[in-house]
Amino acid sequence: MSGPVRPSDVPPDPDGSSHPEPPVLEVTASRHAQVGGMQVRRALPRRTRRTVGPWCFADHFGPATVSDEEGLDVGPHPHLGLQTVTWVVEGQILHRDSLGSEQLIRPGQLNLMTAGGGVSHAEEHPGGYAGTLHGIQLWVAQPERTRHGAPAFEHHATLPRLDLDHGTATVLVGELGGQTSPARHDTAQVGAELDLRAGTSTLALDPSFEYALVVLDGAVTLPGVAEHTDPIEPGSLTYLGMGRDELAVQAAAPTRVVLLGGEPFESEILMWWNFVGRTHEELEAATTEWNAHAEHFGDPGSSLPRSSAPIPSWSRP
Ligand code: MN
Repeated sequence: MSGPVRPSDVPPDPDGSSHPEPPVLEVTASRHAQVGGMQVRRALPRRTRRTVGPWCFADHFGPATVSDEEGLDVGPHPHLGLQTVTWVVEGQILHRDSLGSEQLIRPGQLNLMTAGGGVSHAEEHPGGYAGTLHGIQLWVAQPERTRHGAPAFEHHATLPRLDLDHGTATVLVGELGGQTSPARHDTAQVGAELDLRAGTSTLALDPSFEYALVVLDGAVTLPGVAEHTDPIEPGSLTYLGMGRDELAVQAAAPTRVVLLGGEPFESEILMWWNFVGRTHEELEAATTEWNAHAEHFGDPGSSLPRSSAPIPSWSRP
């Protein structure tokens, strides 16, 4: 589950609209998009919000019914300058990449692929699974220090959990409530799933981070943030700003929420298709190289059709 990002998600020019904010409540509707065989709700990037910490992309996929012959079928495509973080709530996805990794991911497990200077992968339905597919794919922008570096892939079959007042949190990346994920992170950040029962749970936050929520299932209200708001449901990004040392999340029924946060990213980023960069020139070069089958993106060895990169909108005649 991976992009592609288009100008309808964010314009291919930085517009300075993504500055970190003091504590706020900014709820924006996700955009519906088609990725492979699935409809997704794209919460990030938004025209008004390009990054939350280093998090620059969030596609909520499903719940949808898949068969053992057809499901999420995203053919070989490249990435540059980002990490893909795949989290499955229900169902299974088979990941193949140009490093030779072939990894089935199941609920509660984490796939994390670092693109650095170039990698390619495919995300397939594993034969033999039919049922519901539901999850989220996130991208983390890599800092200047690592974004030209070697690609890598990690699978974590188990992740640390912590008890909440009314539920459990699983720490995908970074640290929350004293529990630290073993997954690689190149900047100060957190990604966690909150599996909430009815009641109010209070999370300890880092005031130097900006935060956002993506609701996957159910609905939450935020009693310390806004006294009178409608419950927040799937299909939106809830941006919370910086400067908070705690957050109370209230559910009336079983609810699943992804918490994203981090230090404000070091620079503006540019996104085109499946690439994250800093200049138009490097995104154009990546487009040309992928379409010319340049060796450094490799071949994930999938039987699905390979995607071509669209020519950047700014360089079209
Ligand atoms: Mn991808």
